[in-house]
Amino acid sequence: MKSNIILMGPPGAGKGTLAKRLVAKYHIPHISTGDMFREAIKAGTELGQLAKDYMARGDLVPDNVTIGIVEARLAQDDCSHGYLLDGFPRTLAQAEALEKLTAKLNRPVNLVINLTADEAILVKRISGRRVCKNCGTPYHVVNVPPKVEGICDHCGGPLMQRPDDNEASLKTRLAHYYSDTKPLLSFYEAKGYVTSIDGMQPADAVLALAGQAVEVK
Ligand code: AMP
Repeated sequence: MKSNIILMGPPGAGKGTLAKRLVAKYHIPHISTGDMFREAIKAGTELGQLAKDYMARGDLVPDNVTIGIVEARLAQDDCSHGYLLDGFPRTLAQAEALEKLTAKLNRPVNLVINLTADEAILVKRISGRRVCKNCGTPYHVVNVPPKVEGICDHCGGPLMQRPDDNEASLKTRLAHYYSDTKPLLSFYEAKGYVTSIDGMQPADAVLALAGQAVEVK
C-alpha cells in the first residue's frame, strides 16, 4: 500500500472531500495546512493572527511558517504508518523542505494524487461551497446539499461560506496555483509518483480511482 500521500489540485477540485474519505478508509492522519491555519485563527493564536490576512486575500502564508507547522505535525507518532498531506506543498521551497524532512523521518512520499478540473467549473464549485462551522464537513448548495438547508447532516452545526471563497480571493488563489503549485507536478512526475484523476467525476468514482492508486503494490 502507498500511504505516504500528497493530494494536489486547484482550489475547488474536490481535495477536501476526497481527503476526508481517504483518511477514513485507510486510517491515516489528514494533514491540511488550510485547516491548521483556520483552527489557529479560530483559537486566536499567534499563528492565526499571522495567517489571517494572507488567507483572506488568497495569498500564500510565508514558507518558513508553513514548513514549520508541517515539520512538527509529520514528526508525530501517528504519521509513522502513513499520512495524507492536503494543500502542502504549494511552492518549490515547501517541496524541497518536505523531501529533506521525510527523508530524515524515514517517511518518504510514495504517492501524489493530482485532481484535475476545468477552471470554469472550479469557480461554480467554489461559489456554491459551504462548510460546517463545527466539524468542517464540506457541502455544495447544488451538488451536495445538506438534508436541511444550512445545517450539517453529521453534527447539526451551522453551515458557512469560507471567507476566502469570494471571487477576488479565488482569482488570487488560482493564480498562485498555476504559478507556484502546478509546476511541482513535474518534480513528482519525474519520480513516477503521480496519479492524475479527473476531479469532475462523481465523488464515489474519484474515491474508487484514488483507492486503486493507494492499494497498488
Ligand atoms: P486551503 O484550505 O488548502 O484551500 O488553504 C486555504 C488558505 O490557507 C490558502 O489560500 C493559503 O492562504 C493558506 N495555505 C494553506 N496551505 C498553504 C501552504 N502550503 N502554503 C501557503 N499557504 C497555505
